[in-house]
Amino acid sequence: MGTLIALAILVAASAWVYSDAKTRGKGDGEALIWSILTFALLIVFLPLWLIMRPVTPGEVVSPTLAVPQGGVKLCARCGKYYDGDPSFCPNCGESLQAQA
Ligand SMILES: [Zn+2]
Repeated sequence: MGTLIALAILVAASAWVYSDAKTRGKGDGEALIWSILTFALLIVFLPLWLIMRPVTPGEVVSPTLAVPQGGVKLCARCGKYYDGDPSFCPNCGESLQAQA
């Protein structure tokens, strides 16, 4: 039974990596490679994927840790920094006033 549970976890993790890769703009081939690698060596490639995977727009990566100085803010949509207090993000055009 233990083997079956381990196999189920492997299949679930591989399927998740595949769909996560697709969500993040990877092609079928690359998503499939990551999925197979995760299935073969979960303990290595699942953490590696979590490190290597591209950040999707809208995903906030530790904004409290990432803000380097006062006055520089992090756009919650695209993850780019901007100076001052603009109405819209200079990078992606996200309305910054609505979030304040
Ligand atoms: Zn932005």
